[in-house]
Amino acid sequence: VEDELDIAELLRHVFSKEGFEVDIAHDGLAALEALRREPPDLVVLDWMLPELSGIEVLKEMRARPETRMVPVILLTARREEIDRVLGLELGADDYVTKPFSSRELVLRIRGLLKRGERPVDPKEGALRLGPIEIHAADHRAIVGGKALTLTLTEFRLLEDLVRARGRVRTRETLLAEVWGYDSEVLSRTVDTHVRRLRSKLSEAADWLVTVRGVGYRIQDPADER
Ligand code: CA
Repeated sequence: VEDELDIAELLRHVFSKEGFEVDIAHDGLAALEALRREPPDLVVLDWMLPELSGIEVLKEMRARPETRMVPVILLTARREEIDRVLGLELGADDYVTKPFSSRELVLRIRGLLKRGERPVDPKEGALRLGPIEIHAADHRAIVGGKALTLTLTEFRLLEDLVRARGRVRTRETLLAEVWGYDSEVLSRTVDTHVRRLRSKLSEAADWLVTVRGVGYRIQDPADER
C-alpha cells in the first residue's frame, strides 16, 4: 500500500522479481477494499497515505478477524522513534524506515513469511503451561477458557515461550525464531511486542516474566523470588 507511484512501481518490480504475486493499493480506502476481497499473505503498508492513513488501515486490519493475523510491515518516512513504537503498539509486526534498502525489506518479508511455514502435526494436542493453552494447528491461544485475540507475531512469541518450558529466551533468539531474522538493533521491537502480548494475557499476564538484561520466560509468578 503506497501512494507514491515511483516507489509503488519499484516495490512491484522488486517483489515480482523475487517471485511474489503483488497487488498494489494507492490509498487507505482502496487498501481496505482489496483486503476485504482477498486477504494477502503479508502487507507492506506505507504510513502516510491519502484517504486513510497507514495507522488507520492497520487498526482496521487488526479489528477484522480475517486480517488480524496477516503480517504487516510498516513503511515510514518519519524519523521519530515514537511513531515506530506506535506502529508496533497498534499491531504492526515490523517497520522499515524510508529511504529503505529493497534487499533489507525483502529479507524481512521472507523472514515473516517463513516462520508461518513451520510444519504442524494436525494431531498434535494442546501445549499447556500454567494457565496458558496453545493450539498450534489453528493458531489459538486460550487463557482461563477464553481465546485471546492475538496477531500472528504475538501468537508465535507466546508459542515460542511456552515451548521453552520456563527457560529464558533472549531477544536475539526470539527475533530469529519469531521474526525469522537476527538483528541487534531491533530488540526494541521484541520488547514492544512482549508488552503488548502481556497486556492481552489477562490472568496469565504475571506469568510472562522479564529477565532483566537477558530476555523473557514464562514462569509461575509464585516461584519468583
Ligand atoms: Ca506515502
